[in-house]
Amino acid sequence: MPTPESRPFPLADADLCVKCGLCLPHCPTYGQSRNEADSPRGRIMLMQGLATGRIVPSSTVERHLDDCLGCRACEHVCPASVPYGALIDAGRALLAEARPTRLRRSRWTSAVLSLRPLRRMLALLLRLHAASGLQALIRRFRLLGRGSLARLESLLPAPRRRHHHASAAVAAVRGTVAIFSGCVGDIADPALADDLAALLADCGYLARRPAAQTCCGAIDQHAGDPARAAHLAARNRAAFGDAGDPILPLATGCAATLADYPRLIDGGDGISRRLRDPVDFLLEHGKRLRFRATPLTVAIHEPCTQKNVIRRGDALRTLLARIPALRIVELDATGRCCGAAGTHFIAHPAEADALLQPKLDAIDALAPDLIVSANIGCALHLAGGLRRAGGLSPEVLHPVRLLARCRA
Ligand code: SF4
Ligand code: SF4
Repeated sequence: MPTPESRPFPLADADLCVKCGLCLPHCPTYGQSRNEADSPRGRIMLMQGLATGRIVPSSTVERHLDDCLGCRACEHVCPASVPYGALIDAGRALLAEARPTRLRRSRWTSAVLSLRPLRRMLALLLRLHAASGLQALIRRFRLLGRGSLARLESLLPAPRRRHHHASAAVAAVRGTVAIFSGCVGDIADPALADDLAALLADCGYLARRPAAQTCCGAIDQHAGDPARAAHLAARNRAAFGDAGDPILPLATGCAATLADYPRLIDGGDGISRRLRDPVDFLLEHGKRLRFRATPLTVAIHEPCTQKNVIRRGDALRTLLARIPALRIVELDATGRCCGAAGTHFIAHPAEADALLQPKLDAIDALAPDLIVSANIGCALHLAGGLRRAGGLSPEVLHPVRLLARCRA
């Protein structure tokens, strides 16, 4: 197996593209700019040019490839089964070979997020920021103005009420599962793993959370740094060991990257074949779950990673339908990317907000009490957009949290 550094660009996969253009109407960035270079077909041509040396890695090429959201809507509809997600990662790796300094930011971010003590410290600072009243003061009087710092602050999660579960004791143990919490989730919502553990306990499963688990590697993989992504993948493979128990990732973005481990490292299938979506698992093993009546309207936001990559069925809707009096609506029937897309909502606020606007309009029209999303980036982007818009502000939460709150 070639090392991640030496792996050549998969030209044969790129050549599968017959340039039919059927993906173009589904591409959000092409929809925004109407520029062929911002379309899947155009980006594939740019990458073919880079790989064969016919195109030099200029800042213009870099911009067109970096502006891709990685939503993989194009891959989902492609009749030629072009593996676009793998291509764009490999294309960015070509750019990084020509200009290694472009990886500086992703390496810093990944270094911070992959260290557990630092994640814990950031989670504590977040809690202090909210509990001290500073967050409320900053937001009320717009103390940070309207610049990028204000934008970043507006994305920080609102203070959460910690939900103390009556008991996570398992009477008759049916099995053990491992929870993959995800680095951003660990900081923004560390109690979510407790919620999942409580639901699993109701189903008869003990949850373990390997302390040595780290970032899944998505940040590095999508930045074009497969070597660093492989390093993190190897750490996770060691952390989860050979127990063979199912691995339940809390964020869909992590799930998509973990599923890709066989492409990243030898033995990566030791992780990928054990992956189970938490909601799928609860539906399959949750006959004992009981929910109390919850007369609220919940809007479902389906993240791109779930819709286009993991392609889960209707487990979430089926499970939510078991909560008495809960009304379920779809947030946006078009299913377009909300603009969160990894770090896109921080790096490209104007474009990300334009993609978010149809979702905010739908929220206005549907007036839900709650919005569920299993992607931490989408949840932060949606909640940040709602806060900045003022007016209606339904809580945005993970489906696992909603299920845990409704436990009878
Ligand atoms: S990526 Fe697929 S759908 Fe898009 S132009 Fe190429 S072959 Fe057609
Ligand atoms: S991944 Fe999304 S943004 Fe990127 S080319 Fe495909 S459809 Fe367009």
